[in-house]
Amino acid sequence: MNRSTDPGPDGRPDLRATLEAAGRRLTRQRAAVYDHLCRADHHPTAEDVYRRVKESIPSISLATVYKALEALVDSGLAARLVAANGSARYDARSDHHYHLRCLRSGAVEDVPTSFDPDLIAKIDPELGPRLASKGFRVTGYRLELVGYFDPPGPGTEGAEDR
Ligand SMILES: [Zn+2]
Repeated sequence: MNRSTDPGPDGRPDLRATLEAAGRRLTRQRAAVYDHLCRADHHPTAEDVYRRVKESIPSISLATVYKALEALVDSGLAARLVAANGSARYDARSDHHYHLRCLRSGAVEDVPTSFDPDLIAKIDPELGPRLASKGFRVTGYRLELVGYFDPPGPGTEGAEDR
């Protein structure tokens, strides 16, 4: 991530300075969207963010939330996680980390382990050189574990009866 500013006392980057460095303005809506994203630990969708931010800014529109999220992504303050079905979730954590995705609910969580920058070489030490010989330079990788959380208990909403 391309960070142009040092984190503030709360560990977050300076929102105004980082947005302005990326040619974006800080607006009340963007500040509210970023604040919600930083406090959410479940990688919310734009609709999730919209529902929450609307509680404090009732006049905000879903389109404004989308634009605010894109401004945060473009300036390196957030990451967009796109699922195979095209749906996007947003993550204010911009250090390297792994995700898990529940194939039943679509929920995405951080995996509680440290990021290994050498994992690809551990899988196949020849892979980097082999790809380099084809003209592809590896600059990073993304890893998502997929599976299911334990089935919801009886009476829990969202249970599937298949
Ligand atoms: Zn994450």
